[in-house]
Amino acid sequence: MKLTETLAPTQKRIALVAHDNMKETLASWCQKHKSVLENQCLFATGTTGQRVKVATGLEVIPLLSGPMGGDQQIGAKIAEQSLDILIFFWDPLESMPHDPDVKALLRIAAVWNIAVACNPTSADYLISSPLINTEYAYRVPDYSAYAAGRSE
Ligand code: PGA
Repeated sequence: MKLTETLAPTQKRIALVAHDNMKETLASWCQKHKSVLENQCLFATGTTGQRVKVATGLEVIPLLSGPMGGDQQIGAKIAEQSLDILIFFWDPLESMPHDPDVKALLRIAAVWNIAVACNPTSADYLISSPLINTEYAYRVPDYSAYAAGRSE
């Protein structure tokens, strides 16, 4: 696969998602890192966003609830390169009705090489990176030849 470079902006576009048993964990993680998160652009699936807003007062752009398509909305943003970071506290001890969406979301995040954290420790490392507050160039798949072929 041919690769090209893309630029994550200084203000990162971050998606927050937590399964029900992990919502409390994500809300307290957001509280802990509020001073960094309030300078970023936050998106969240429906219930997660509500929970984070109430717990922290952070501004969050709401998407649909995960089982109703919110995970897929986040996946679409990743594929359109309008998301830089995914904080996704999925529940490792329970299966979900929307497990296929969960798998698809993690897959598309890997395809587009965005930063992903699936537990509080990884998320601590990620949010503490000096790259959070600077532009960051990273490699993504180059589909320009494909797109050019389609327009002919
Ligand atoms: P929710 O969705 O924030 O609406 O609960 C999260 C999920 O289960 O994917």
